[in-house]
Amino acid sequence: MTARGAVSNRGYAALCKDCARAGRDGGFEYPSSWLESIAVRGGTRSNRCPACRRQHTTDVRSMAVPYLELDVIGLVADRMNPTGPLGGLGPLPEMHREVDRSSDLSSLTVALEDKSLSR
Ligand SMILES: [Zn+2]
Repeated sequence: MTARGAVSNRGYAALCKDCARAGRDGGFEYPSSWLESIAVRGGTRSNRCPACRRQHTTDVRSMAVPYLELDVIGLVADRMNPTGPLGGLGPLPEMHREVDRSSDLSSLTVALEDKSLSR
């Protein structure tokens, strides 16, 4: 049984591909609930940290044709040196790894009293 105030959930850790290209750390984590909410809407997880994701959204909105439909021609044989008929763009982003995220809230003295409730 989990102790009162102890919270844990699953999440993922990844490195931001834009930060990596710029030479910054760019490590970020996100909860599995975020991934599930995106998947429900048909989206996919991002390989960008929240700051780069916001910048990318701004950049994409300024493009007349931000996305192109591409046909998959095969899997990448070497993730560190992906090449194809048009050349390569550098190493692919690292895979996201699953992490346990936990917090202990038992030291907090937060309470709601009857007098705090409005009727
Ligand atoms: Zn980033």
